[in-house]
Amino acid sequence: MGNGNPIRVQTMTTTDTMDTAATVAQTIRCIEAGAELVRITAPSKKEAENLLVIKEELRRQGYTMPLVADIHFTPNAAEIAARIVEKVRVNPGNYIDKKKFDFIEYTDAEYLAEIDRIRDRFTPLVRICKEYGTAMRIGTNHGSLSDRIMSRYGDSPIGMVESAMEFLRIARDESYHQIILSMKSSNPQVMVQAYRLLVQKMDEEFGECYPLHLGVTEAGDGEDGRIKSAIGIGTLLEDGIGDTIRVSLTEDPEFEIPVCKDIVGRYAGRDNHTPVQSLAATSPIALPYDPFNYNRRSTLPDARIGKGHVPVVVAHYADKKIHPQDLQAIGYRYDELTDKWNIGDAAADYIFTGKETIDFALPGTLQVICNYDVWQTISASDKYFPIRSLEAYMSAAEPLSSKHFIAIDTNADWDVLLRLLDKLKDDSHAVLCLGSANAHRMPSIRRFAIEAMTRGVENAFIICLENNGKTVDEQLIDFATDAGGLLLDGFGDGIWLWNNMAQVENIQMKGRTYLEVKNNNQFLNNTAFSILQATRTRISKTEYISCPSCGRTLFDLQETTAKIRNATNHLKGVKIAIMGCIVNGPGEMADADFGYVGSGPGKITLYKGKEVVKRNVNSDIAVNELIQLLKDNEAWIEPA
Ligand code: SF4
Repeated sequence: MGNGNPIRVQTMTTTDTMDTAATVAQTIRCIEAGAELVRITAPSKKEAENLLVIKEELRRQGYTMPLVADIHFTPNAAEIAARIVEKVRVNPGNYIDKKKFDFIEYTDAEYLAEIDRIRDRFTPLVRICKEYGTAMRIGTNHGSLSDRIMSRYGDSPIGMVESAMEFLRIARDESYHQIILSMKSSNPQVMVQAYRLLVQKMDEEFGECYPLHLGVTEAGDGEDGRIKSAIGIGTLLEDGIGDTIRVSLTEDPEFEIPVCKDIVGRYAGRDNHTPVQSLAATSPIALPYDPFNYNRRSTLPDARIGKGHVPVVVAHYADKKIHPQDLQAIGYRYDELTDKWNIGDAAADYIFTGKETIDFALPGTLQVICNYDVWQTISASDKYFPIRSLEAYMSAAEPLSSKHFIAIDTNADWDVLLRLLDKLKDDSHAVLCLGSANAHRMPSIRRFAIEAMTRGVENAFIICLENNGKTVDEQLIDFATDAGGLLLDGFGDGIWLWNNMAQVENIQMKGRTYLEVKNNNQFLNNTAFSILQATRTRISKTEYISCPSCGRTLFDLQETTAKIRNATNHLKGVKIAIMGCIVNGPGEMADADFGYVGSGPGKITLYKGKEVVKRNVNSDIAVNELIQLLKDNEAWIEPA
């Protein structure tokens, strides 16, 4: 992998490593689904030794895919596994250090003494790997940094980078280079910044970069898990960063592989895309935004879009007759008895009607975007706003004196786009709807946004993405990657998604389970709000951070996650972690507000932040106890 090889897809088993038959069977299912590497947990020496039995059985059945041992805490297990499997993964946050949550001020001399201690413990593994030709992943996790790193850098992206660099320098001193690195976090923003920083740091310090394994940890399940993963992994792949990927879903591992393939599959056939305008050609100055720190692009003030507002969502109902009940799909439920609208937390802000108008009273929070010629026929409505094409806007003599939208293909002739930016300097009412016909869509939109920033144009813009001829799963990945990547860099004051769902039914293939779409407008609206939630730019629902489970898991994670989700999915903005084991769970639940962690067979320990609140609760009553914990901390409201 790396160095121009295809981006490899991989996953990790969830079985008990001592259950050879189950682990072999699950590994085979993963390989048959397309996994090119399979990782198996080795929490102690006995599991590490059993990797040999598993490997031999797989080889006996004709499966030769490389295996990876997943190690936390136990150097002696790593040293055994490194003699058996093709790769070992170590977590520099806990390979040698037990986490004590001690925040000590280290002097430089004490810090260096710690590094020497790591060198003594880590070097034997490096030498074994070198001798056996075994590869190694130095896999940093945002949630499990060592006390030493936390004390000096906090749980920051730069702390994650330094955590890996400490180990990498030791390996390089031994002239061992069969290394890959990862910087995982459950927060795509943190993860993207950490990988970018790592690349920069390796380049600065060594003048060369090692391959990277990309992943978002504890992404959860269903659409949300896929969206979070696509945003984190996809944004980096768009940057040209990443050599192998794992999507961590709280689902059986073989279901992760099609998602990986959809993410990687986006790059097939892009070789001859229209070149995106070179940055150096027109902006020979520093990048006007910081790819290592989130700052939302500054925009002109407006009553609803841009500065001071969360990104808006536009629902696409072009050219069809709209009835009150149609709006239920985008968060508005009309109650005939009371003649009132009930508005959900994920209710769209605008509706695009094309050449249609609406003949009933709209909910107060919903406004309409319609074609310019239709808008001209509507007398003085403060609910309707026109949209024009770039050509129509450029040929209009006078700017409009109220809010209006311009549909812009950022793949259009660059000189025309530059003239547009000049014209916009005198038009504070324009909102730009940015899409791109370029196969390299996200970078094309980002390039235009960079030019707007460089030239001081502060009109708000909405990210407009169309998807046709793709499966539902591919659309989800496409929307999440292209919109998410822009939002993570601070670009975008709204999202507008649409597709041709009629085409989708024809291309769903047999032999694979696809996400089910009952209502297309609802699918698009949910996807838009989930992208905003995953980029933490607009919070409209509960957030779940659930581990993918592995051989250490102490309960049925999928069933429990579903149970907790059912009980709590009305708690907007609350972050709940559901973690399979007490060994890694508390460290890896990152910035969750509350944690539900397996602490023994049939036992759950509940956390508020990183603090244990109830230890070893019987699992039969643990969900109720979690609800009580939410109530005690004023994080609970009764469901509507
Ligand atoms: S937190 Fe989950 S995935 Fe991580 S080691 Fe524990 S059970 Fe395995």
